[in-house]
Amino acid sequence: MRNLRPALVALAGVGFGLAQSPLATAYRLKEAPRMGPLLSEVLRFPTVAGNEKARLDQQAWVLKVGKELGFTVREAGKVTEVELPGPAGAPVIGLVVHGDVQPVDDHWTIPPFAGEIRNGIVLGRGAADDKGPLVQALLALKVLQDSGKARTHTLRLLVGSDEESSNLDFAEYLKDHKAPDFSLVLDSEFPVVVGEKAWNALTVETEMGERENRVLSATRMESGLTASIVPDQATIVLSENPRLGAVGLPPAEFKGAIHRKSVPPGVRFETQDQRAGVQITTHGKAAHAGVNAPGGRNALVALAHLLVDELPAGGAKDLLAFAKLAGQDLKGTGLGIATADPVFGFPTVVPSLLKAQENGKVRLTINIRSTPTLSGEALKAHLFKQVADFNARTGAHLEPGGFFGDTPLAFDPKGKLVKRLLASYAKATGKAAHPAISGGGTYAKRIPNAIAFGMWFPGKPYPGHDVDEQVPMEDLHKGVEVLLETLSDLACGAPLAEPLKP
Ligand SMILES: [Zn+2]
Repeated sequence: MRNLRPALVALAGVGFGLAQSPLATAYRLKEAPRMGPLLSEVLRFPTVAGNEKARLDQQAWVLKVGKELGFTVREAGKVTEVELPGPAGAPVIGLVVHGDVQPVDDHWTIPPFAGEIRNGIVLGRGAADDKGPLVQALLALKVLQDSGKARTHTLRLLVGSDEESSNLDFAEYLKDHKAPDFSLVLDSEFPVVVGEKAWNALTVETEMGERENRVLSATRMESGLTASIVPDQATIVLSENPRLGAVGLPPAEFKGAIHRKSVPPGVRFETQDQRAGVQITTHGKAAHAGVNAPGGRNALVALAHLLVDELPAGGAKDLLAFAKLAGQDLKGTGLGIATADPVFGFPTVVPSLLKAQENGKVRLTINIRSTPTLSGEALKAHLFKQVADFNARTGAHLEPGGFFGDTPLAFDPKGKLVKRLLASYAKATGKAAHPAISGGGTYAKRIPNAIAFGMWFPGKPYPGHDVDEQVPMEDLHKGVEVLLETLSDLACGAPLAEPLKP
């Protein structure tokens, strides 16, 4: 578009080299002001796993807003369909988001479910993952509808509701609903994700009991919120058990010894006197264990470094020693899996949870995002052998378990759809970018012919799953512009045959 008012170009934040498309201009003028209010509203539903009321309230909200915007809306069990129809019998392009969110803990410094916007930043759980993209998609569809541009495809926004927990909504939906001809999953990063690592969890569990008689025994240990979050806090309680022949330091001296130690940058720790004992807590920084592990500071691994040499031989020491080994780096060197895959690169390894079990044992969970080089049963066999070797070496009794049922997802980077998405991204942003590999899994693994596309911009740490999740309003607007460019290309052009093939 020519003769753009300079103010508009500045508003678009893309400089003068790039002309804004008519759709982007229409968005900025008409729909962009609704981004904040709509996102604020939907952020107020605390749709964490198990909150059935929030799930239903939000589903009702999607139905109401979808209708108000003039779309066809349908409830389909745990999935809600919001549709902008094309000609009768037209092929269907899916846009897929999830309405549920990761849990929050008490380490947040902003209200997670108030839907606040401060200084152009949207604050709250789900702002990036994945309610921002839900509202971005609604507004992009609205602009496309109002533009009068002739569509060759039906656009169907599918809103899931248990992606962050059981992740069965689409398996259920696809039993009696046809999948779109192809789908864009708006739950990762731009320009397009051509590889998603597989989600695995190695668990080891054991009794807390000790094999030597020391003055201080570990009586409680805990860390993390979910397996998919770098833990920002880890705690251990040591209690004094003055038994006959017990050796080692009493609580006060033990505390002094710990305080002479240092922790890595970005981590701090504190000790607290307990009745006949001491509690030690490390504080780090939470982050998405799949897509932003380097942005986190692992409090559990820090606790392991701080204490593993000070604890009596026994279950607590064994669990921390194993966490230290697994957390040696983020690519799995300690577990012997740090092999670079030619396309995916290294796996991502994050010790995340330490939790007491109902059987009285304590379980350590290590989140492993694996690549096609080593996944599934082969990965499981390798890791179980590592645990057996660790036991043999140290006298520990760690029992291995976990989940290895996911597989990495890989697309041909020369596929037709991938190329079109890259071109639209470059056109809308004025910047070419390479296809991405993600450590996080998305619905692309659950829906045929689905690929993750946006809405996060490359080169910025992803705030989903983090404490104080937030997203700049301008990034939301820019994301809509990329989506509009993409949809005006794909939904108004000739249908793609075998879109994921070259
Ligand atoms: Zn997500």
